[in-house]
Amino acid sequence: MSALDVEIARRRTFAIISHPDAGKTTLTEKLLWFGGAIQVAGEVRARKASRHATSDWMELEKQRGISVTSSVMQFPYRDYIVNLLDTPGHEDFSEDTYRTLTAVDSAVMVIDSVKGVEERTIKLLDVCRLRDTPILTFINKLDREGRAPIDLLDEIESVLNIQCAPMTWPIGMGKSFRGVYHLHNDIIQFFDPQAEKGTSEIIDGLDNPRLDELIGTQAEELRNDIELVRGASHVFDQAAYLEGRQTPVFFGSGVNNFGVQSVLDAIVDLSPEPLARSAQTRAVQPHESKFAAFVFKIQANMDPKHRDRIAFLRICSGRFERGMKIKQVAGGKMLAVNNAITFMARDRTTMDEAYAGDIIGIPNHGTIRLGETFTEGEDLRFTGIPSFAPELFQRAVLKNPLKLKQLQKGLQQLAEEGATQLFRPLGTNDLILGAVGALQFDVVAHRLENEYGVDAIFESYNVSTARWLKGSPDQLKAIADKYPMNVALDGGDDYVYLASSRVNLQLTQERYPDIEFLETREVH
Ligand code: GDP
Repeated sequence: MSALDVEIARRRTFAIISHPDAGKTTLTEKLLWFGGAIQVAGEVRARKASRHATSDWMELEKQRGISVTSSVMQFPYRDYIVNLLDTPGHEDFSEDTYRTLTAVDSAVMVIDSVKGVEERTIKLLDVCRLRDTPILTFINKLDREGRAPIDLLDEIESVLNIQCAPMTWPIGMGKSFRGVYHLHNDIIQFFDPQAEKGTSEIIDGLDNPRLDELIGTQAEELRNDIELVRGASHVFDQAAYLEGRQTPVFFGSGVNNFGVQSVLDAIVDLSPEPLARSAQTRAVQPHESKFAAFVFKIQANMDPKHRDRIAFLRICSGRFERGMKIKQVAGGKMLAVNNAITFMARDRTTMDEAYAGDIIGIPNHGTIRLGETFTEGEDLRFTGIPSFAPELFQRAVLKNPLKLKQLQKGLQQLAEEGATQLFRPLGTNDLILGAVGALQFDVVAHRLENEYGVDAIFESYNVSTARWLKGSPDQLKAIADKYPMNVALDGGDDYVYLASSRVNLQLTQERYPDIEFLETREVH
């Protein structure tokens, strides 16, 4: 193996998905702590808090008590380099999460043992399934009186339509939670919330008399449980996991550090190294020597005085080095990237290089767009970075009409970050903003004021859904001439049909059978 191959093979890039409150932030923090990336658990929350202080926009986040941004945390663990991509939990920012999921090779799903499979989990898993992303499952909060483990597995199998392969099995729960049995290597790990890493003792063998000594009658129950579980559940199958058909399941309590190490070990031992990505002309393999990457996220800078943003690129092949010249395929320009941000955890020498699987951040002034491809010269375009049909539409109204230019610029630039979309109906001068979540309108109004000096409000607009139009130029012109109030251009000057109702959409579709009405627009 070449040095490049070795570096790529040791990358693991994943995200954590969960319904809010299941324990994603806690698990993130504990993974970083077990990985040695932070010294004291608690720093992730603290860092989030201090970041808030630097920006008015973040101020809004803080007031609402939610996390709007995603970030990247990279740390070494054993012989591996782990990239953990954070995703916002609030559903109004789900598009951001969906796009982040295009940049990972696997995901960890956190389930609250009291609540089981929740609504957001279902949606997120559907997104993972679009690319057959392998999923590890962590059933959390075993220190609480939750549902029976076998019921939880049944629910995951039936609701999420994925096989479960238990890797550990809990001993009791709530007040009588004693630890887990590792089904694959016949060891028992005992839970003690007072112990430094949540584990008081580890012993070998289900028949070990020490088991009876430590947990008394629960020992016999465990032996019976395990017999049943072995008979009734799936055995872990690496291929089925990698194809997204089966999920290995771990039980634990994040807040008590218990089970976290098993998840971290599973990430490096079981989950895939960087996977190939599809481009329009061909699939791009991670071990190709030439650099290629796509932009999955744009984030406004934390400092509102400097209007620059960071484009987050997932490296799909090859190696990146500071100062390297890369081609922005869309405009054909070569950029010398001297100021890229890499995400190696602190206290290590900052490396000025990154490999397939890693994420780099490139500061720019709005010249880099979501979904764009960067290469060493080849005209590749990665596909599959979705832009979702917004479900809410509002019209921007200026308080001071002289600021129209700033308003247009602000809306356009903010839309480029991807959380909102701007539509300009052909027959009016209206600026219509579409979003998946209502909170986005507040974020935009707040940022227009702070970053662009524009005082605007949003008022309701009679559109209930949007569809991207695909057809010949003649067909598109025909529909645009007929419905100038409904046909609009989006931020990338593509045609969109804005429908006032489902019925209106259906009638129009029937009238134009040769035009495709697409729910999502792939960015490229
Ligand atoms: P997120 O919204 O998914 O990021 O969830 P958080 O990590 O913020 O956790 C939500 C709440 O559950 C917090 O109050 C945590 O302290 C709590 N929590 C997390 N893990 C556990 C656990 O293992 N046991 C218990 N009892 N509470 C937990």
